[in-house]
Amino acid sequence: MLTGGCLCGATRYEATGTPYHQTNCHCGMCRRAAGAAYVTWFSVPRAEFRFTAATPAAYRSSAHATRRFCATCGTPLSFESDKHQDEIDVTTCSLDTPEALPPADQTRTATRLPWVTLEPGLPTFPEARTNR
Ligand SMILES: [Zn+2]
Ligand SMILES: [Zn+2]
Repeated sequence: MLTGGCLCGATRYEATGTPYHQTNCHCGMCRRAAGAAYVTWFSVPRAEFRFTAATPAAYRSSAHATRRFCATCGTPLSFESDKHQDEIDVTTCSLDTPEALPPADQTRTATRLPWVTLEPGLPTFPEARTNR
């Protein structure tokens, strides 16, 4: 069981599914959404994930995706693509124990900031991961 939530504690979640696709995403949309150099994500089956406290706020961040965040403190929490309706991506650093779920690859590196050093030894994808 993975548990996490936002900075202020209003929003909490739990995931019972086995996490996969742990990644550092260097795309410009994640960067802007988080106000951070890149965002670390993991994925779980949507059916095995639920919010357990306040319902987070949501917005369409592109024509095919919804991002959720705490309506009180703004912590970015999740990403759901219309193209992968069985899956939800969750921000690793909103976990209670993010140290337990390190990134397994790095994606969208073509748009990484020039002052960000990529992790040596991790598979690197200039665009989306190609071995879904
Ligand atoms: Zn909050
Ligand atoms: Zn991204």
